[in-house]
Amino acid sequence: MQYSHSRLSTFNQCPFKYKLKYVDNIDPIIKDTVETFLGSIVHQTLEHLYQQLLKDHQNNLDELLSFFYHKWDEQWNDEILIVKKNYSMHHYQSLGKKYISDYYQQYKPFNTSKTLAVEKRIIFSLDEEKNYQMKGYIDRLSESKPGYYEIHDYKTTTRLPSQKQIEKDKQLAIYALGIKHKYLDVKDITLVWHFLKFNKEMRLNPSDKQLSKLSSELISSIDSIENIKKYPRNPSMLCHWCSYKPICPQYSHLYQIREQRQNRYHKRTGKQLVDQYVSLKKQTNQQKLDVYIELDQLKKDLIDYAKREHLDVIYGSRSKIRIIKKKESSNAFKGEQKDLILIEHF
Ligand code: SF4
Repeated sequence: MQYSHSRLSTFNQCPFKYKLKYVDNIDPIIKDTVETFLGSIVHQTLEHLYQQLLKDHQNNLDELLSFFYHKWDEQWNDEILIVKKNYSMHHYQSLGKKYISDYYQQYKPFNTSKTLAVEKRIIFSLDEEKNYQMKGYIDRLSESKPGYYEIHDYKTTTRLPSQKQIEKDKQLAIYALGIKHKYLDVKDITLVWHFLKFNKEMRLNPSDKQLSKLSSELISSIDSIENIKKYPRNPSMLCHWCSYKPICPQYSHLYQIREQRQNRYHKRTGKQLVDQYVSLKKQTNQQKLDVYIELDQLKKDLIDYAKREHLDVIYGSRSKIRIIKKKESSNAFKGEQKDLILIEHF
């Protein structure tokens, strides 16, 4: 099995997402977000620029921007998700144009280091026995003088990391391990991040000690993945950009409601249950026994509904209810409903 930085970071972000993507091999349900699309087209454009330079031809900025627009139009489709609804596709396209133009003006005539390869594929082993294999693609590999390698990576992220965050970033350091394996004349490796939104580059020279520590960490991450028995869900802000949201029990109910709304299909028991539960819960201060009895029944119905539909969260009109599994007590009968509790969100 060959591991990549993206594979390992998916596991760290959410083991359940890792399972869907790499164990079950399910294609992403949401094909692309506009942010990843923008990143991809900008990468293709800069790759083109340096490929032409490798052939001793320097595109002028107008030519490069026409390449960018051509790729954008050729690959854009209506399934690409724009999460921030107040921005249009054109907003992201103009960001791309700015990133390319700023980069071009800053680095022309592109001769501070000698480009050796673009989109360079590297495969290497972390151990002598070749049990731990890594792979990756380097945006651009260059050499400032013989033996002094530079690994360049283009970032279209909207946040500029601090130097400390850069030092913790593993992606380019993994590539550095690969370069050390491949080239015997390595004297020094510089990692260069190009944060295109800020027209700013950040550099780091990892020491041999740091790279060897990273290699051990990667081996232990791979061991954890290969020995995992369960793949828990890890909801976070990053779920907004998760391509598996429609089939993740954290969000699938929301998608069911949307689909039902679209199909004018109103058998929305889950949504109705949540609305009814929340409204009854507000009446419990009235100390009416029948309210408590009905509430208890609704609780059971919600748990049954969540089990049947494989949901972690059930969405109402203005509230949502999270179903959380309690730790089984030693004398609890396996699968009994009292192993589950409800948490409300208003
Ligand atoms: S939506 Fe969130 S919790 Fe669900 S798989 Fe994606 S990252 Fe994990």
